[in-house]
Amino acid sequence: MIQTVFSAALPVGESLVVRKNRIGEHMRSGPRIAVITGMHGDELEGQYVAFELARRLTERPADLHGMVDIYPAVNPLGLSSHERGVPQFDIDLDRTFPGDKNGSLTEVLADALVRDLEGTSVCIDIHSSSIYTQELTQIRIDEHNARPLVRLAALLNARLVWTRKPVAARESTLSHTLNERGIPTLVVDMGAGMRLDEEAGSWLVEGILRLLEHLHAWTGPTIALPNPLVSNGSNVCTLRCESPGIFLPSAMHGNRVQKGSLVGSVCDPLSGTVRQQIVAPCTGLLFTLRTYPVVYPGSLLARILEVRI
Ligand SMILES: [Zn+2]
Repeated sequence: MIQTVFSAALPVGESLVVRKNRIGEHMRSGPRIAVITGMHGDELEGQYVAFELARRLTERPADLHGMVDIYPAVNPLGLSSHERGVPQFDIDLDRTFPGDKNGSLTEVLADALVRDLEGTSVCIDIHSSSIYTQELTQIRIDEHNARPLVRLAALLNARLVWTRKPVAARESTLSHTLNERGIPTLVVDMGAGMRLDEEAGSWLVEGILRLLEHLHAWTGPTIALPNPLVSNGSNVCTLRCESPGIFLPSAMHGNRVQKGSLVGSVCDPLSGTVRQQIVAPCTGLLFTLRTYPVVYPGSLLARILEVRI
């Protein structure tokens, strides 16, 4: 059942409308799971997950024993204009939570979303990387929430679960707000901005079905990938650029790299010279790789999770 979560009039007769698809409306005694995406308008990986999850669940209604709310576009103006923030307001919607019912349009939207999510058993907030880098599917968790969330995160078929030190800037995110209110919320970061990887999305859908199964809300088929690597960040090697230029990757994203092997080069098209060779400082999994070629000093080029091969 398609439901309207939030609606507001725009200046010239248009409307800002956030909708959700509630599947399993009659399953009121079971758990209720929310899948949210489209918070940042230039992150599209979640659109396929929303589509495919809705398709899978409606295909086998007898196997669903709970409610699943799918919110494909909580920032519809951003999605339509491929902008990360909310157009005109120049605001990151995921820095406005818990919102304010008497505040600006974006704060009222955030407040409405939080209210709509009250009573949810588990929430999954799907994001993509930026247009600059490609990420393996990973679940990011603030470390003070790690204990209850890592077990749930491990079900989602991600390659990595990354527990991070909390920072003040994330206190105004949806995930922080919901976790503080006792709703376990997992943030997925995957793929690349402005792109859509169906294979990665399909694995995440299988993972969401595994989570539903764990909550006794799904008796249909599921497919499990091996357990993810879990890191607190201490074994993450971050590679940044030292010279401006054009980055040409040599290593394959998602592959394991050996310490000392070439990850990529920063080149100068004007002189035809290589300005910097980027060498792996450790052996491990190349889970982040630059895809946008133009780089400046300090640009993120790659991240390697140091693990034994
Ligand atoms: Zn995002």
